Amino acid sequence: MLEKALAHAGRNQQAYLSQLQAYLRIPSISTLPEHQTDVARAAEWVAADMQRLGLRNVRVMPSGGYPFVYGEWLEAPNAATLLIYGHYDVQPVDPLDAWQHDPFGAEIQGGKIWARGASDNKGQHFAHLKAIESCLAATGRLPLNVKVLLEGEEESLSQNLEPFLRANRRLLAADTGVISDGAMIRPGTPEIDYGLRGVVALEIRVRGPGRDLHSGSYGGTVLNPVQALAAMLASLHHENGTVTIPGFYDRVRPLTPEERALLNQAGYTLEQWQRETGARLPWGEPEFTLLERIGARPTCEINGIWGGFSEEGMKTIIPASAGAKITLRIVPDQDPDEIARLFQEHLQSIAPPQIQMDIRYQSGCWPVVMPLDAPEIRAAARACRQTWGVEPVFSRGGGSLPVVAAFQQILGAPFALIPFGLDDNRHSPNEHLGLEYFFNGIQTAIRYYYSLSSEFELGD
Ligand SMILES: [Zn+2]
Repeated sequence: MLEKALAHAGRNQQAYLSQLQAYLRIPSISTLPEHQTDVARAAEWVAADMQRLGLRNVRVMPSGGYPFVYGEWLEAPNAATLLIYGHYDVQPVDPLDAWQHDPFGAEIQGGKIWARGASDNKGQHFAHLKAIESCLAATGRLPLNVKVLLEGEEESLSQNLEPFLRANRRLLAADTGVISDGAMIRPGTPEIDYGLRGVVALEIRVRGPGRDLHSGSYGGTVLNPVQALAAMLASLHHENGTVTIPGFYDRVRPLTPEERALLNQAGYTLEQWQRETGARLPWGEPEFTLLERIGARPTCEINGIWGGFSEEGMKTIIPASAGAKITLRIVPDQDPDEIARLFQEHLQSIAPPQIQMDIRYQSGCWPVVMPLDAPEIRAAARACRQTWGVEPVFSRGGGSLPVVAAFQQILGAPFALIPFGLDDNRHSPNEHLGLEYFFNGIQTAIRYYYSLSSEFELGD
């Protein structure tokens, strides 16, 4: 069955590629109102393709904004159900003169397809649709049950996703999910992302005197709010890079020696870090490697700080107020609300009595991680290895993906992240996707469905 599906995908490469070109030629830019009809057209186009290739119950479902496109195939009664998520909207294309190809021409040149959305995300989720098509056309069935959910607002903050998931919990119920977005670490090296950090965002406002004061008349009698805030912020880290907030690390899941070995296999060198950051020397917890610090350790960052006079020349004042923006990256099992509370309590406890402080908790997103012995990890590793002929690398991303956290929180389904592309100038001029990556994406997806189905059977 698997071989038949793979062979079908191989024979139909040209057809699948021309379909992808048609999809990419729809300029579905969700952030620009003048593309409203294009975004709607992309939803209809992909829904029609899902219908044609054999998904059932295909629907374009309205939300507060752009619709969700849904389709399913649920005819494998004793098998697991896989939810595949992607997004059919794309980023804007400016600056247009930096493009060497028409961003919506979907030209093929140099073994790549050039278009906005080629990699992020049409090309990558379309590989899943073509994997489903290959299985259904070649064998009349899929090895497991599949639900496909495509969103039209991923590039404009996914504001309707959470309410949609809550309202359609039953429809979307699944044992596990997969997202193919993002980038592999290096050409030809498949990657499995099994974790992401969460994030907590806060804003601090400190007030001192009732107005900016003359520093000659009052200096030496008033606690300067900029100084008070700077001192509090400077005390948030120990010299070795750990965060001083009491209780901050209580829920951090320790890294096992096995996980450390696996995580560091990706091989991230000091030189690569220096090239990427433009910084001379790393900083942070010395007992953890750079990859561990980025993916598996929590942080506290001052994103911005303001107060007083900073124009040219001088102004002899004691400013009335100061402020700062903070984000804390968190890891399993830290809870964003609890971390926000610990931060607030700690700062209030060290605030000098001369100032008034107000801390606003702006937003929080849960961290996620999939255990390394999960069936998804084994299945993904096998699918990647058999497609690319090399071992995949395993990575925990330092960033946060609210979508994944929402799936986990609301649907209770873990999500495997298996990128099919490279950096590919996503969000920049000259976005593209290597044809090999598109075709290998289809093969990886087919193999993943089969492997996952047998892993789940074994688990029963
Ligand atoms: Zn994007």
